[in-house]
Amino acid sequence: MILGLLLFFIHDVSANPWSVVRNPSRGTSTPIGFYSHGCLAGGIKAPLQGKGFQLMRTSRGRFYGHPDLIQFIKSFGEALHEKKLVVLVGDLGQPRGGPMPSGHKSHQVGLDVDLWFWHHRHPNRLLSNSDREKLSAPSMLDSKKRVIPARFTSEQITKLKISAANPRVERIFINGHIKQYLCSSLPGSDLAWLHKLRPWNGHEEHFHVRLKCPTDAAKCEPQEPVPDGDGCEEAKAWKEFTAPEGKPVPPPEDCEKVLKESIAV
Ligand SMILES: [Zn+2]
Repeated sequence: MILGLLLFFIHDVSANPWSVVRNPSRGTSTPIGFYSHGCLAGGIKAPLQGKGFQLMRTSRGRFYGHPDLIQFIKSFGEALHEKKLVVLVGDLGQPRGGPMPSGHKSHQVGLDVDLWFWHHRHPNRLLSNSDREKLSAPSMLDSKKRVIPARFTSEQITKLKISAANPRVERIFINGHIKQYLCSSLPGSDLAWLHKLRPWNGHEEHFHVRLKCPTDAAKCEPQEPVPDGDGCEEAKAWKEFTAPEGKPVPPPEDCEKVLKESIAV
């Protein structure tokens, strides 16, 4: 049994060295490569809580990001705090970014973060450490994939709207059914802000905010821009899809240096 576990562990380590490194590399914070095949040099640790926000699943240690991302979380939390709201924050990235052993394809360059739709409604009460590990985010959809209006309320819309208004935000992934719901339930005069909201699979209990490459990050590969407009026509035709399997694209060569750098602790 113990030997089995040990072998599994060794196998796991060789499969993904990025998830084993416990501290960020030194130097200026720089995203390298693309959101789904890259890494982060000089990662910064997000505070585990602050005004209007609290990180979840902190035992996983996926709370590193570029300073732009940390700043985004803080200012988003402050904006929510003024409205007596809170956001529960899911994964950012690993200390040096790179692929994670489970859960995400992206979140590799320190510019992606998952934010829960649901929160505990007590802006001044922190969740206990055990709640942070154990609570799971409820879906905004019922079993027939319809938005549950009692759950997906003006609060959730406010959160999306505040995020989308932030000029650093490049796009936001939400479930396609939620995008369709927003397109059909908001007044026509209030659709323009939906532009950055990209209909995707999953993302029914959280939304995923992706920031633009920082202007001084020459090795950060930007994504094709989001098409013009509110995206509601496109959303009408959206259906859940099966992501092509394909081999993961290895991080760029510069990332090898980031990974290998050792730090005396
Ligand atoms: Zn995500």
